[in-house]
Amino acid sequence: MKIGIAGAGLIGRLMAWQLQRAGHKVTLFDAGDELGTNSAAYVAAAMLAPYSEAVTSGAEMFALGKPALGQWRELLQQLAQSSSHVVALNDSGSVVVAHDLDRASLQHFAQKLKAVAGNDPEVKQLDRAGISGLEPELPASFRQGLWLVGEGCLDNRALLVALQHALVTGGAEWRANVAVQSVSAGTLNTAAGAEKFDWAIDCRGFGAKTDWPDVRGVRGEILWVRAPEVRLSRPVRLMHPRYHLYITPKPGDIYVVGATEIESESQAPVTVRSQLELLSALYSVHSGFAEAQIVHSFARCRPALPDNLPQVQVSDGLLRLNGLYRHGYLLAPTVLASAIKALAGDYSGAFVQEQESVSRKT
Ligand SMILES: Cc1cc2nc3c(=O)[nH]c(=O)nc-3n(C[C@H](O)[C@H](O)[C@H](O)COP(=O)(O)OP(=O)(O)OC[C@H]3O[C@@H](n4cnc5c(N)ncnc54)[C@H](O)[C@@H]3O)c2cc1C
Repeated sequence: MKIGIAGAGLIGRLMAWQLQRAGHKVTLFDAGDELGTNSAAYVAAAMLAPYSEAVTSGAEMFALGKPALGQWRELLQQLAQSSSHVVALNDSGSVVVAHDLDRASLQHFAQKLKAVAGNDPEVKQLDRAGISGLEPELPASFRQGLWLVGEGCLDNRALLVALQHALVTGGAEWRANVAVQSVSAGTLNTAAGAEKFDWAIDCRGFGAKTDWPDVRGVRGEILWVRAPEVRLSRPVRLMHPRYHLYITPKPGDIYVVGATEIESESQAPVTVRSQLELLSALYSVHSGFAEAQIVHSFARCRPALPDNLPQVQVSDGLLRLNGLYRHGYLLAPTVLASAIKALAGDYSGAFVQEQESVSRKT
């Protein structure tokens, strides 16, 4: 089949790659460049954090997110067969800590987690010795913490490059810097006119709002710092009464520091206040960050739906994937599997909603 995909961020690339592997002819359109710099996927920390997400998002998220590490391991093994670009998957868990004064925030987090996950063996209490055994550079003032063994993170920029490489070498047509104005059954409309396909797939994230008014953007601000003098080997979360900071290690001595979460659709540059809060919390975790270089600051909108869960809407010739919100990497394998099944007429996957068939305009 001929398939046109609007949006080559996280879910658009994954869909295109899986459909191409299944023998379909894929054309991808993106308003931005091939690297995906326009997307939420590009700036994200790309943590696979079912336990941490469960605390705010509940049991459904936990059940669907828990297999994510294993699912990504399989996807990356498949990807390694069609792209020479290596994508690192850090599966050594994450560490949650709090300063002594903020012990209550850590306890509250642990209680909420227990309410969802029960006595899960992948949640381990840490004392001072346990923290320094995992992350020797964390200061001695952190005396209690948690090790969320079943969490991890991906090298997302390498992933976006590897997917693009696999797609282009496999024969996909890539239309970079082409905005899709609207998507309907079998049709993508650009400034140059309508393009016809057997299936049109809308993966424009926040950019799909024009066709799907329920989509909202949730502003996230995030910093990338280079800190060769700091050695943290896994994501670290700092519990605090006002904000939760995470520090996610990436290749090349980079740490991704985030993220704000603001009900705003502005993608204007990071504010002074957000930057001050993120950086002061960062410095409180490890004084070695004093000499870190701020290499990027980004503000992007996470694409969300009213219930903050993804949706796969399917009707004749049209698939819309959206609502990946703050857990897009975590839930992408599930959304991908549901969408591929829906395209084949099986609507039993998670998050799938069958829409009334709309006859195609010719
Ligand atoms: C600061 C931040 C931190 C995050 N951290 C995490 C994390 O740690 N773990 C996690 O699981 N998730 C995280 N996320 C969420 C994750 O990044 C998103 O859920 C995911 O990227 C959504 O995927 P998507 O493909 O729907 O949208 P996107 O990745 O945003 O891709 C949408 C694509 O559509 C394109 N587009 C938009 N409009 C048009 C148009 N009109 N025509 C053509 N193309 C268009 C864009 O250029 C873009 O490439 C984070 C997000 C942010 C912002």
